[in-house]
Amino acid sequence: MPIEVVWFKRDLRLRDHKPLQVASQSKNPLFLMYLVEPERKSQPDTDDIHIEWEIDCALALDKNLRLIGGSLHIIHSNAIEILGKLDRTHGINRIFSHEETGTSWSYQRDMLVKEWCEQQEIQWIEFPSNGVVRGLESRDNWKASRDARMSEPLIEIPHNLTVIPAKENPDLTSVKLNPRPLKHRPVPGEDAAMSTIDSFLKERGELYRWRMSAPALATNHCSRLSPYFSAGCISIGRAVQMVSERQRQLKNEGLDPDSKSNWKKSLSSFQSRLAWHCHFIQKLEQEPTLDIRAMNHDLDSLMVREFDQKLYNAWATGNTGWPFFDACMRQLTSTGWINFRMRAMIMSVASYTLWLPWRKTGLHLARLFMDYEPGIHWSQVGMQSGTTGINTVRAYSILKQGKDHDKEGYFIKKWIPELRNVPSKYIHEPWKMPEEIQASASCLIGKDYPMPCTDEASARKEGVRRAYSARRNPDAKTTSRLVYQKHGSRKKSSRRTHKSQEHRSIQTKLF
Ligand SMILES: Cc1cc2nc3c(=O)[nH]c(=O)nc-3n(C[C@H](O)[C@H](O)[C@H](O)COP(=O)(O)OP(=O)(O)OC[C@H]3O[C@@H](n4cnc5c(N)ncnc54)[C@H](O)[C@@H]3O)c2cc1C
Repeated sequence: MPIEVVWFKRDLRLRDHKPLQVASQSKNPLFLMYLVEPERKSQPDTDDIHIEWEIDCALALDKNLRLIGGSLHIIHSNAIEILGKLDRTHGINRIFSHEETGTSWSYQRDMLVKEWCEQQEIQWIEFPSNGVVRGLESRDNWKASRDARMSEPLIEIPHNLTVIPAKENPDLTSVKLNPRPLKHRPVPGEDAAMSTIDSFLKERGELYRWRMSAPALATNHCSRLSPYFSAGCISIGRAVQMVSERQRQLKNEGLDPDSKSNWKKSLSSFQSRLAWHCHFIQKLEQEPTLDIRAMNHDLDSLMVREFDQKLYNAWATGNTGWPFFDACMRQLTSTGWINFRMRAMIMSVASYTLWLPWRKTGLHLARLFMDYEPGIHWSQVGMQSGTTGINTVRAYSILKQGKDHDKEGYFIKKWIPELRNVPSKYIHEPWKMPEEIQASASCLIGKDYPMPCTDEASARKEGVRRAYSARRNPDAKTTSRLVYQKHGSRKKSSRRTHKSQEHRSIQTKLF
């Protein structure tokens, strides 16, 4: 009997898994597989923490599959090699999977698999897994399609699967991972994803809107769902519907008015971010080279950013001499996660203040993020580096962010033990400490903690000046209009025209 292959990619869950649901209706046995592809390891945006996380989520999935008669083959192999082998051994009837929106590498891999399937006359059936629309003709229609997707009925866990059984403990010794150990690493798998969203919607989320920006508070009050979304342990559609359900329940709950109002506002902010998730991935779907070529390549070329190894090292290791920045970078390196505002600050410091090329710094961040999601990542890298031409120039002031979100410096002291004894008066600018205070705080600037790698305020202003100067170029402006047509959010355009949006974006703000 031929087999039906269900290829689990970054969709490591049982619920809302249409490929599995459809394949399970076949009379043929299923071959359920997750691949650890050898080529993936050498991709410059990939870190062993990503592969390790996915394998752990795949192992959790295998456990759950065994409860319903299934099991997962976790295989270290190139996709075409294993498909060829399966076809020779069993004969493949069809392959089922979700559509994947990845970088140039996974895009090329999918092209090769498609070609192979055509040669072998095997049908490869791909299903959408979120609000991203393949082959979208115009952004104008995107929101309606996404909303329709999000309201599709959820798919529950299938039962009584008939499969080609997998070994209980897959041999992954050939994978050879050496991931950096992460502090507070989340629990892998679908069950953990479900309890994470549950605790957010019932407890942690009430003050989400007000606490998402301060890094010390965000760790608890943000949903922390991102690594589960990127490995597909929970679907975006389910998350959206769970939030809507919670919004309905709220109306009948006897909460005090303040609490009810907090929840309403926080859940509404959260729903918007779930929409952004797909909005940003849609950009990579339509332009799969965003990891190597800027959306507005004319603007990018005009900016001529320069690679400076010393500045890059200071930035990448959290040793710039700017305490709030360094604390954020060190938290990210140790835990694999930091909140949105700080990610934006980290990227904007690289691109405006230090004038470093976005691809190098974007790759470094991709490797640091436990939740690396190519579509969100490269779109955000472009946005925070000013290479789209359609977004406001946001050059973050580290001092302002630090004072707004960590006035007393508790967060700084947590992540930079060298500054532990520095009085709060100097915690954001320790280089201003008189020598005797440096001595009494056991922190000699330039020895125990670095001097600032450059003058932050003037370097940032110079970066902003160069960015605006490039934006005035007529070719860059023309390309910006094309970028807007292809990728711009239509929500904004209903309120203001692209022209006025451009006008707004050339006003300098202090972020
Ligand atoms: C330079 C840069 C790179 C980024 N790279 C990634 C990445 O690789 N992977 C990733 O998941 N997110 C990325 N983000 C977006 C955002 O910072 C994270 O999604 C968020 O911090 C994850 O934490 P959370 O799940 O607790 O978020 P919550 O605030 O609880 O939000 C819930 C979900 O909404 C989505 N979301 C939230 N903010 C955004 C946003 N600004 N854009 C798109 N979707 C959003 C995410 O799926 C997130 O998991 C990046 C942001 C920047 C500025």
